[in-house]
Amino acid sequence: MTGFPEKADLIIRGGHVLTMDATFSDHPDGAIAVTDGRIVAVGPSVEAAGASAATEIDAQGTIVMPGLINTHCHAAMTLFRGLADDRDLDGFLQRVWAAEAAFITPETVELGATIGAAEMALGGITHFTDMYWHPDATIAAARRIGLSLTTGPVFIGFDGIDGLPWPKRLKAADDFLARHRDAPDLQLMAMPHSCYTLDAGKLAEVVALADRHGCPIHIHGAESPSEMALVASQHDGARPIGVFDRAGLLEHAPLIAHGVHLDDAEIARIAATGAAISHNPLSNAKLASGTARVADMIRAGIPLSLGTDGASSGNDLDLWKAMRLAGFLQALATGNPAALPARRLVEMATCGGARALRLGSETGSLETGKRADIAVISLDAPHMVPVFDPYSALAYSAGRNDVRDVIARGRPVVRNHRLCTDIAAEIAETRRFAEKIKEKA
Ligand SMILES: [Zn+2]
Repeated sequence: MTGFPEKADLIIRGGHVLTMDATFSDHPDGAIAVTDGRIVAVGPSVEAAGASAATEIDAQGTIVMPGLINTHCHAAMTLFRGLADDRDLDGFLQRVWAAEAAFITPETVELGATIGAAEMALGGITHFTDMYWHPDATIAAARRIGLSLTTGPVFIGFDGIDGLPWPKRLKAADDFLARHRDAPDLQLMAMPHSCYTLDAGKLAEVVALADRHGCPIHIHGAESPSEMALVASQHDGARPIGVFDRAGLLEHAPLIAHGVHLDDAEIARIAATGAAISHNPLSNAKLASGTARVADMIRAGIPLSLGTDGASSGNDLDLWKAMRLAGFLQALATGNPAALPARRLVEMATCGGARALRLGSETGSLETGKRADIAVISLDAPHMVPVFDPYSALAYSAGRNDVRDVIARGRPVVRNHRLCTDIAAEIAETRRFAEKIKEKA
């Protein structure tokens, strides 16, 4: 009994299938069958010999793995890629916030998020977490490209770029969360920006709102030395994790983006609450924010995932680069080259990402019943030979150009290195958008 059905919607045959399941089981010559967007069988390809499908993908000579999961992103900020380079978080935010105030509308967010989602799909990402203004526009963009999305209303304490004062912001958030609650391609989170843009009272209001809707929380925290100083000045000398705790937010086990500046007690406290950290090594390195204590956090039992952050602090949405840099930075910071070994890095980008989002039963590994979120990685390029260990090839050699096919929720979104959606008009429009920014600057 093979478990492979006679008929499926889609079958991927051949290739080294890395399931990223609990025991890291693999099939050196494997096959995957997909029906109604879900994986219905995974195993050696010989067992799939009698199965057929409307769409057959020959994956011989490739690595077949779960789609990558980007757990922290601001996709629409692709519009400001390269606008504010070579400065710290404060300098970066000043420049970018001015550009956002002048140019961000639902239409421009949809344009930027379409470019961002397309970039991510081509890089093997099948699910991303996005925190940005006008999240309905990002939802439209993710659907256009075919990716799944974690998003939700953003909260800051002052009138935001969307022009919503506090009471109206809470009402709009309630409406948004109610409106999208049954969407199968969305995971909803409440997204308070940070504790330097929200006071403790407003943070507590967001926690209450998240409780009412039964949704998790995503927030920036402990990202840079300047943030630590700002938070101390605003909150009577407190540190971000202490502020989260006092507001009842930590008890809610949020997904915290960055978590670079944490002491031992804070790491223990985060671990005790079940909160997760989205590690963003590219952004942290480029803005000189610091090196997160990833190895210590993993040892403490904190779920760790990877994010790209926005493309204006990255400057791209490349999770392969994030994987590699995460490993290298931990080796340098700890003096231990095995601090974050290759398989652990691939785990952080796949099933670890799903666990951090609390979507571990839905995606992140190639297992029967899970969403068919799959990436096929070509081994044809010179830098991909030889392969002694597939995890090493993925973590240390592979890049976005090696992503050959991407299947998200059972639907091909990239085939033979090409996006299945035509976005030529959006690319032209983004160039025109940049000209407008240059004229104003
Ligand atoms: Zn961010």
